[in-house]
Amino acid sequence: MPDIMESIVLSEDSLRAIEDVVTVPTYSFRDWSSDLLKGVRSEIRNFYRTQQKARCAYCRNVITKSASGCHVEHIVPKSKYTEFMFTPKNLCVICPDCNEIKREKEVSNNLEGMLKKDPKKYPRSSSAFLIYHPHFDDYEDHIIQIDGYYIDRTDKGATTIKMCTLNRRVREFGFEPSLVSSPKQMELMYKILNSGKLEEIMLLIEK
Ligand SMILES: [Zn+2]
Repeated sequence: MPDIMESIVLSEDSLRAIEDVVTVPTYSFRDWSSDLLKGVRSEIRNFYRTQQKARCAYCRNVITKSASGCHVEHIVPKSKYTEFMFTPKNLCVICPDCNEIKREKEVSNNLEGMLKKDPKKYPRSSSAFLIYHPHFDDYEDHIIQIDGYYIDRTDKGATTIKMCTLNRRVREFGFEPSLVSSPKQMELMYKILNSGKLEEIMLLIEK
C-alpha cells in the first residue's frame, strides 16, 4: 500500500489565495514562499503529515509538527514544472535533511530525472516516474531500510536513495554515500560496521 492513500482537497480559502497569486503576471514558482500562501502551505503540511503518519516520505524519519521540521515537498520540482505546484498528487511532506539535500540539487541543476517524459497533465501512474512516488508506490517494493541504512530493490529505489543521499549515515563512519550504492556493497559495509572482532573486520575488508 502507498504511504499516501488520499490526496488533499484544498479549502475554499486556500483555492482563493492560490487564484490571487497565480493570476499576477509576474507569477513564478518563487511565489510558493509568498506570505499570501502561508495558510495554504500550513493546510497542505498538516494534511500530508497526518496521511504519512508523521514520517518523511523519502527517509521515513519522524517529522515534527513545526514548519521548520516538516517541509512541503513537490515531488517533481516546482522550478521545472511550475504547473504542478498545487497539484495534490505532487505534494507530500519531508524532513529538513531530505529537503535541504533535494533543494541543493535542484538549485545546482543536479537533480536526477523525476519523469520519463514531460507531460501536459500530471501522470496518473507509477510507471511515469523515475523515483519512488509516495502516492503511487509501496516503499518496501523499492527500498529496504535497515538500522538507518537504505538498500535499493529497484532502479526507482536506487535513484531515490541517490537523489536524497539517504545513506548519509555512512558519512559518520568516513564512507562517501555515493560510493555505497549497490546492495552488495551495503551488505558488506553493514557487516563491517557491525562486526566487533578485528580479525573479522580485516577479513571483510579484504573481500
Ligand atoms: Zn527525510
